[in-house]
Amino acid sequence: MKLETIAVHAGGEPDPATAAIAPPIHLSTTFEHGPATEILHGYTYVRDENPTQDRLEAALAQLECARYGKPGQELVQLEDSGESRSVGMHTTHGRVASGERRAEGTEREKADPLGRDVTGKAREATTGALAFASGMGAAAALLQTLEPGSHVIFPEDVYVHVRLAQQDYLPNWRIESSVVDMSSAKNVEKALRPETKLVWVETPSNPRMSVTDIAAIVRIVRDKWRVTSGEWRDTGAPLVLVDNTFATPVFQRPLELGADIVLHSTTKYCGGHSDVQGGALVLRKRDALYEKLYHTRLVLGAVCSPFNSWLILRGLRTLPCRMERHAANAMAVALALEGQKGIERVFYPGLRSHPGHEVAARQMSGFGGMMSILVKGGWEDAVRVASRVKLFRNATSLGGVESLIEHRASAEGPGSTAPKNLLRLSVGLEHAGDLIEDLLQALGGGG
Ligand code: PLP
Repeated sequence: MKLETIAVHAGGEPDPATAAIAPPIHLSTTFEHGPATEILHGYTYVRDENPTQDRLEAALAQLECARYGKPGQELVQLEDSGESRSVGMHTTHGRVASGERRAEGTEREKADPLGRDVTGKAREATTGALAFASGMGAAAALLQTLEPGSHVIFPEDVYVHVRLAQQDYLPNWRIESSVVDMSSAKNVEKALRPETKLVWVETPSNPRMSVTDIAAIVRIVRDKWRVTSGEWRDTGAPLVLVDNTFATPVFQRPLELGADIVLHSTTKYCGGHSDVQGGALVLRKRDALYEKLYHTRLVLGAVCSPFNSWLILRGLRTLPCRMERHAANAMAVALALEGQKGIERVFYPGLRSHPGHEVAARQMSGFGGMMSILVKGGWEDAVRVASRVKLFRNATSLGGVESLIEHRASAEGPGSTAPKNLLRLSVGLEHAGDLIEDLLQALGGGG
């Protein structure tokens, strides 16, 4: 099955109670259980699991984990679901033998390529997706699973609040970190230590659109820890996380390139309409790390609300269509801006002039809707251009249907590492010609 089909159907089985085609939103925070907390219908408390979030997680898992190469290639599942399901699950009421509950669904799940089961629980059998309240909620949950004494490698250009999490929180948790320019995988190799537990990749990066070779980093880590099989968790090798927010699973599939975890701010393209906040972590399978993350989310509380889960799920239905248009528009805008008088550089991985173009062309099936430009001059010159746009809106965030522009150094505030003359563009779904006209007039070049 192809990605477009999965996006439309995953987690979308008709409501078993009413046969409604649009998924219901279950707002209930609590679910009836037996007198000794026996789980009657699969749920107990909203922060633990809830039916709407389950549908979203099934869809995210399907989108990130099903194999999808260049357009036209077939989707197939990565692995079968023969893994052990003996790990118990914590609920607010203590540890319960939910291993059986999950195992019980497995046969049905295996039978349905969309991971649906007839009881209405949308479960993806082999992969583990966890929805969070925000992208940062997802990021924090992962960092909170690290033991004191661990070491993490972060990229030089990374979403600003990830950098602040690294600077403001990791030292208190006695976690050391290094920051490296990941446009060369060799820099990661040099920074690896025996106690490195996590390599954090963001590609393309926010806001400089740096591209990191995911497969090269995975290779370096595997070589160093002499990982010869898929069982590399047992070797103590660091996890490789990829923040896939900019590319989305439509254009980049980090798990297939060997990464262990994918992070999303679902606030962005997954939601797609600038009206919902969420985050997600997607793992290749429901292993011990999945259980640890599940437990962290449950206890520390960064869960996605049922309503937000529903909105994000709705956004996913059109993700492949939207991404195609975002990317086509962004390419048109990038080509129109490159070489303009008022512009020093255009950073868009689809341009041949981008230093990461070759890697991007290899590991992405499209270049996405994000770009940044360096305006000739400095801070004031960039802000002047941003102040002149008529169609683009000056606003933070990205990935919605409308085009946004932002002077990142102003937005990030003191300590920002964004160049002073950088404007970040989230290219929306308007007509490319209108967007180009707007930017050219803002640059003072006509329109
Ligand atoms: N990762 C990237 C690349 C982002 O751009 C953002 C937010 O802009 C995040 C993570 C954090 O996501 P959220 O705002 O949903 O917490």
